Amino acid sequence: MSVRPPFYRPLANEQQVFRVAYDARVPLMLTGPTGCGKTRLVEHMASVVDQPLITITCHDDLTSADLLGRFLVKSGDVEWADGPLTRAVREGAICYLDEVVEARRDTLAALHALTDHRRTLYLDRIDESVRAPDTFMLVCSYNPTSRSVLKELKPSFRQRFVGIDLDYLPPEAEAEVICSETTANPEVARKLVELARGLRAASESSVHEPPSTRSLVTAAKLVAAGLGQSDAVEAAVMAPLVSGGPLDEGLRE
Ligand code: ADP
Repeated sequence: MSVRPPFYRPLANEQQVFRVAYDARVPLMLTGPTGCGKTRLVEHMASVVDQPLITITCHDDLTSADLLGRFLVKSGDVEWADGPLTRAVREGAICYLDEVVEARRDTLAALHALTDHRRTLYLDRIDESVRAPDTFMLVCSYNPTSRSVLKELKPSFRQRFVGIDLDYLPPEAEAEVICSETTANPEVARKLVELARGLRAASESSVHEPPSTRSLVTAAKLVAAGLGQSDAVEAAVMAPLVSGGPLDEGLRE
């Protein structure tokens, strides 16, 4: 029985580019602000092409063993255990490396032979090479505008991927997402989007991150669950913008 793909409201032609990249068996790099729909696009397209999705969230402690696998001691015996990337390659799944910019360069080196014509993962520790089946696809993402990201990906690494640059949706489309993700009425959704647009414009000249579509969806859920609109906005939209310090009064205004 086929399951309906998770709802995805397109910004432009990203579904088509994703599909063409999938059919052409080339890896994909998604960029865009946090909470703008990158993960949802991947979930949607994995469902469209009817393949399992394996997600790996990158961080600076992630080692190539975390991706590829390691030897484990199991009831006195030493056994090899595939890591999530190896499992995805063997299964021909969609493998999604979220926040790939956080991973160390030596960890990303494990991806080289997988992201060119070889489409192969070399597991040196067990002397095995695994060629990716046609259904396998590697998708990576990161937020190039995050103020906390000082790292950049090497251009030679980026050039291994087809790129899709996402952004927040236009106002009516973003309100449509809020309504479809929650039971919020269109008026609440419209007000949340208007607020977000003001905060996003203000954040360009401030140290605060812009509010994400995700935080608007959360605010709408809180309203639908009975919280007053301004308390919901404070808790779901404003509070996450500040880490430690008070929100500057101009921005709050
Ligand atoms: P990120 O870009 O950080 O991966 P997500 O894809 O997780 O962001 O989006 C966060 C949430 O915002 C989603 O769970 C969904 O509720 C909503 N969302 C954002 N963009 C879209 C979109 N284009 N279509 C449907 N839902 C979206």
